[in-house]
Amino acid sequence: MENCVIEESEERAPVCPKCGVEIDHLDVYCHEENRYRVSLMTKDNSLDWSTSEVIEGTETKRDYECPECNSYLFKTDNPHSLEKDVIVPFLRGIEGSWRETLYEVAPDAER
Ligand SMILES: [Zn+2]
Repeated sequence: MENCVIEESEERAPVCPKCGVEIDHLDVYCHEENRYRVSLMTKDNSLDWSTSEVIEGTETKRDYECPECNSYLFKTDNPHSLEKDVIVPFLRGIEGSWRETLYEVAPDAER
């Protein structure tokens, strides 16, 4: 009987489409609210920003960057929108619709 196991060999390390280097992760910059506890330091009247906490559910933006060349590869204003259909296939090294989502910068525009 034929072995019906799906070959995993089509998956390979993703290659950054901007610099061509093999990468195993993306760096992500998130915009979200943080709550700080600010107290007065009585000895010199300075402020002590000792504790901070990310407020769940306030994320408004995610920028995915290549860790090698620091180019933005994907950007979204809908934080979870790209995860399943773009980021996962990209990191699995699968060709697919993520190319249509690739962030393109105008040639003369720097970040
Ligand atoms: Zn790169």
